[in-house]
Amino acid sequence: MYKLNICHLYPDILNLYGDRGNIICMEKRMQWRGIETEVTGVSVGDALNYEDYDLFFIGGGQDFEQGVLLKDLAAGKAKQITEAVEAEKVFLAICGGYQMLGQYYKTWDGQQCDFIGALDLYTVGEKDRMIGNYMFQCDESDGGMVVVGFENHSGKTWLGEKVRPMGKVLSGNGNNGKDGTEGARYKNVFASYSHGSLLPKNPRLADQILKTALLRKYPDIVLEELDDQFENAAHDYMEHRLKK
Ligand code: GLN
Repeated sequence: MYKLNICHLYPDILNLYGDRGNIICMEKRMQWRGIETEVTGVSVGDALNYEDYDLFFIGGGQDFEQGVLLKDLAAGKAKQITEAVEAEKVFLAICGGYQMLGQYYKTWDGQQCDFIGALDLYTVGEKDRMIGNYMFQCDESDGGMVVVGFENHSGKTWLGEKVRPMGKVLSGNGNNGKDGTEGARYKNVFASYSHGSLLPKNPRLADQILKTALLRKYPDIVLEELDDQFENAAHDYMEHRLKK
């Protein structure tokens, strides 16, 4: 039987706007296809051995919570996470979790958080927050789908040369409200500002991420199509609303 091992990093600390819904969604989509999933929460003080997992999920968090994690990251997880990224493990990181994969985050009130540095990007906060439903279009290489989400961040993220954006903003702010980019892609990392939670209403993206993880492990696997009429109705309703 096929099996996917998911590591949920800091589930008790990084979980804004129902980001855990992404885990539930992935588990369900696997279950509907008869694929087993095991989800392991790894938090402060827990050991992390990246080789035990196929897919990593990191949710969003407020500035305070991000600051709380710095010590734990420096004590070993930052190294494991960087190695996992380089080993082409699949990651989905949302908002605060996305920022954490980058080099640093300077909060709007001047606090400097030196983060993991697994991705070539950095974030600088401003007092005005970027809040609201938004949408973006993924790169063709990821299927070119339109993704709808909800953003709420003060951090403005700027991408370096080694990463590419996850998509192009169609409505809302995305990475920084200025350069039209949203999220970041590097190897098998998918990083985005989209809360929502993201995957339940973007089933094509959910399958793109799951497929990437499964194919690494089982090169011959074929992902059965699911009946996504409810998921697509939720997606299309929001896409239509944001187009106006
Ligand atoms: N604290 C970060 C910011 O405000 C991330 C917030 C979030 O995860 N929603 O930019």
